[in-house]
Amino acid sequence: MPERILIVEDEEKIARFVELELLHEGYEAEKAGNGRDGLELAESGRFDLVLLDIMLPDLSGLEVLRRLRKSSQLPVILLTARDAVADKVSGLDMGADDYITKPFSIEELLARIRVTLRRRPQGGDPDGVLRAGELTLDKKRHSVSYGGTAVALTAREFSLLQELLENKGIVMSRNSLLERVWGYDYVGETNIVEVYIRYLRSKIDDVFGIPLIQTIRGVGYVIKEDSDHDRE
Ligand code: CA
Repeated sequence: MPERILIVEDEEKIARFVELELLHEGYEAEKAGNGRDGLELAESGRFDLVLLDIMLPDLSGLEVLRRLRKSSQLPVILLTARDAVADKVSGLDMGADDYITKPFSIEELLARIRVTLRRRPQGGDPDGVLRAGELTLDKKRHSVSYGGTAVALTAREFSLLQELLENKGIVMSRNSLLERVWGYDYVGETNIVEVYIRYLRSKIDDVFGIPLIQTIRGVGYVIKEDSDHDRE
């Protein structure tokens, strides 16, 4: 049975575009144009995932999320404006599963939907350990190892690797990594992401002779895991 996705978005053009893309991908999709209708539909139990815009008439997206989370763990991906960093933080604190910043590419949205739906039954990484092949990153201990050999990373390198591992299989654009690892207010070298990717490669890829971090030309970076693809 196709997975059903609820789109809560008052900008009709965006909602319609996303709906068509989702239908094209084989999902079922339904739209709500304000927070009140969105909440009612989200609580109906008919959906597998909600795309929730934050700036909505009637009830804001965050208010919809707050009310929904009283009774439901339905996966929610927030659609946020570029300068709304506080919204993202409170959204994730309030139990959103992920967010995507407008304007987004449909490919990234579809990838985030796939990842969110896939991790739903296991509830993410309950042990706080992220893996890709022989590589493990332990979030609680703040440690990284490859095949049992410890890898010493700086705090920023660790955050960047964590971001890539948490989005394993999703190509992360430089902007997206910049925003998630360095934060919105970052002003400085624009090639900082490339520089840190190089640091990571020199400490992992080069040392262990593996192509861990792949460059997708003109798009960004991705950590893939072949075994992961076989299972899909
Ligand atoms: Ca809106």
